[in-house]
Amino acid sequence: MYLLAVAIVSVVPALCQEETYNYQQEFQPTYHQNDAYNPFFKETSQYKEEEKLQYSSFEQINHYLLDVERLYNGTVKSFEIGHSVEGRPIRGIRISKNPGVRKPALLLDAGIHAREWVGPVVAQYAIQQLLANASNANLTDGLDWYILPMLNPDGYVFSMEHPPARLWRKNKAQTFVNYCSGVDLNRNFDYVWGGPGSSDDPCSTNYRGPYPFSEPEAVAFGRFVLSIAQDLRMYLTLHSAAQAILYPWGYTNLVPPDWQDLDALAKKAEAAMSLVNGTRYHVGPTTKVVGLGAGGSDDWAKGAVGIKYVYTLELPGLFYPEKGFHPPTETLPIIAREAFEGIKVFAEHARNRRP
Ligand SMILES: [Zn+2]
Repeated sequence: MYLLAVAIVSVVPALCQEETYNYQQEFQPTYHQNDAYNPFFKETSQYKEEEKLQYSSFEQINHYLLDVERLYNGTVKSFEIGHSVEGRPIRGIRISKNPGVRKPALLLDAGIHAREWVGPVVAQYAIQQLLANASNANLTDGLDWYILPMLNPDGYVFSMEHPPARLWRKNKAQTFVNYCSGVDLNRNFDYVWGGPGSSDDPCSTNYRGPYPFSEPEAVAFGRFVLSIAQDLRMYLTLHSAAQAILYPWGYTNLVPPDWQDLDALAKKAEAAMSLVNGTRYHVGPTTKVVGLGAGGSDDWAKGAVGIKYVYTLELPGLFYPEKGFHPPTETLPIIAREAFEGIKVFAEHARNRRP
């Protein structure tokens, strides 16, 4: 905890300046309400067998990470950042072509919200594309990748193995209310913790925990980010299902002084994503697009750690919002492909940008 505190105190003053922001949504994203107008259903036939993606269990995700480490020995290194409340490992991989040489790095994570099953699918797809698709080889030239597909293993297992808990969002911590468990890990980070859009009620889906970094999953992730912070040029965190590219802040209506840089790059990524199928995504500050939510990993990464380019990629959910967290399996390759086009734009920027 000491390490976290020092880092926060040292970087906050430089970033305290805020700006107001005249936000205008330039278009309405397309939600596909029925099959007749749904390009997802038409397009799936063009996908190769290896691109037919599936939702995977926690064990399958971990096996996948160990498999790619074995298969790409020397380029891929798997690691554990810590354990969940119930003792499950939180695992990630580093993809690095010349591990001995220091390079800029990009961090991609998913699964901090248990019910958002499509995030880990896209994270695994990104790994596959980076390693197995020769046309993406340039994305690992001069850029290290840290990819953690599952930050909330307990919540994920709970939402998968107990059908009534399909929409579980939090971890599985005990709280001071016997019959209400779980902390929203994405409200537990120590940057303006306790602010608007987070709850002090353990029965709420947005329960922020008893104090900042009270949860082992959030602490593990926080320590890990600080350990690689010097090389990090970009942080992308996968969520669903608001179909949007979001940048800080989530704790206030204000935006950071460099918001125009973040906005311009997000729009470039969105344009690339929209070319795949014509699907459009919202672009804007978190608070404007999806509402307030203090204590998120994205705000912390920018506000406390000082990473300039921080984005929450909200993946789509078909028939949003009814089935927002469970797009049909046959649509996963399309969602993944769209997302990866955006991730490519972000990665190229991360690699080319000076520290
Ligand atoms: Zn989420």
